[in-house]
Amino acid sequence: MRHPSAGQLEASVFGWLPEAEAREIRAHAANCAKCESALRQEEDVQRRLGLLRANEPRIEVAERVVDRLRQTERRKPLLRSARLAGVALALVAAGLLLASNGNLRRTVRRLGASVLT
Ligand SMILES: [Zn+2]
Repeated sequence: MRHPSAGQLEASVFGWLPEAEAREIRAHAANCAKCESALRQEEDVQRRLGLLRANEPRIEVAERVVDRLRQTERRKPLLRSARLAGVALALVAAGLLLASNGNLRRTVRRLGASVLT
């Protein structure tokens, strides 16, 4: 195996590579002083980032806000269709009331009164 690139070394440390490829890179680094040193540096960066995250609750808060926003965006289409369904129902109800005779009107009024009391 040729020397892995800096990007490959970084990706192997941060878990962005398929395990087989990462294993190959680690095996190479175990027998190559140059790559082993580069790999140790990447591992040090990863460790420091981990410490940074552990001491920085604001990062977690930001992630939670982004998550919340994503969930809201996912829910939007449902809300829109629910609103449309509500508008359609109101139109049908209005049409029924307009077309209805006094009996239906009285029934609706009675229903309304029973709900209110
Ligand atoms: Zn090497």
